Amino acid sequence: VARRHDGRQLIMKIVSLLGDQRIEVVDRPTPEPAADEVLIRTAVSAICGSEMNGYRGKGSARDNSGHEGAGIVTAVGGDVTELKVGDRVGISAVVGCGHCEQCAAGRYTWCPNNRGTANVHAEYFTHTARGCHLLPDDVAWDAGVLITGDGLGVPFHTSSRLAERPYGTVAVFGLGPVGLGAVMLQSHLGRTVVGVDLSEARLQLATELGAAATVRVTPDQDIPAAVREALGGVAPEVCIEAAGVPATAKLCFTTVRTGGRVVFNGEQGPLELSPSADFIRRDISAHGAWFYHFNEYPQMLDLARGGLEPARLVTHRFTIDDAQEAYRAMAAGLTGKVLLTYS
Ligand SMILES: [Zn+2]
Ligand SMILES: [Zn+2]
Repeated sequence: VARRHDGRQLIMKIVSLLGDQRIEVVDRPTPEPAADEVLIRTAVSAICGSEMNGYRGKGSARDNSGHEGAGIVTAVGGDVTELKVGDRVGISAVVGCGHCEQCAAGRYTWCPNNRGTANVHAEYFTHTARGCHLLPDDVAWDAGVLITGDGLGVPFHTSSRLAERPYGTVAVFGLGPVGLGAVMLQSHLGRTVVGVDLSEARLQLATELGAAATVRVTPDQDIPAAVREALGGVAPEVCIEAAGVPATAKLCFTTVRTGGRVVFNGEQGPLELSPSADFIRRDISAHGAWFYHFNEYPQMLDLARGGLEPARLVTHRFTIDDAQEAYRAMAAGLTGKVLLTYS
């Protein structure tokens, strides 16, 4: 591998999403950090469910849409003071402008000028320094990428929004990585969790991650009744929609207890809901929860150090050279979190 005088690689491998489920690992020049950025040598990156659209469809506008990664800082831009070469970091995929009221409060996702990142599935990537979280030495890479990425971030933010009111029972609809993360975290926090999915493999994972019961979705089944039965005859106080499917969202409303709450985690288009039937007559509240607040990181770190073990969400691991296999496994819909590793 060609190197510059400071030891950095000139050329690196990067995953390129070509569309139609085709992946190539190609050589590209190693990027240079801008003044407010750092260059990170990737230790591990995670594939997010949101990447499946590009994988199955048109590919990625950049080489890849990877946005969950952790590694070691190998160069810093001229204006960077908060990080130095050698620091272990994980990244927040959403970075705010850095000078509005929301950014000052540590809420990049609420910044009107926030932006997302990509191209993290590569041997090196650049990231805005203020969007990096320092990983203490006792936090392993796998845990680090989950705590700073969607893996634990989405379930944690969802949970912190729900914590505004006490509850003891949760049904999680859709047991992809985000749904499984919710199962793991809600169980860890002492709630009784029912996992709902089509896939037997994912129901099994939910059980391993702490679900008290699972319900397999089959045609003609009365899902709300099955969930109530799993909870000893009562409906759940909270339903989390993590499938991103209109029919599943409707199911959350028909399943949730009167006076209960529905949370949207799964991205989806317009959905037909009735103010009268779905909200008013049963005092139902619904809200969304997107990614996580930058300032929630210390709390997630505490959870990871307090026995949560976020790496239990990882079911598959591939080297960057086997990225095609990694995407194929993720797209098959039977995995928890899928990681790419770098030598
Ligand atoms: Zn994501
Ligand atoms: Zn801002």
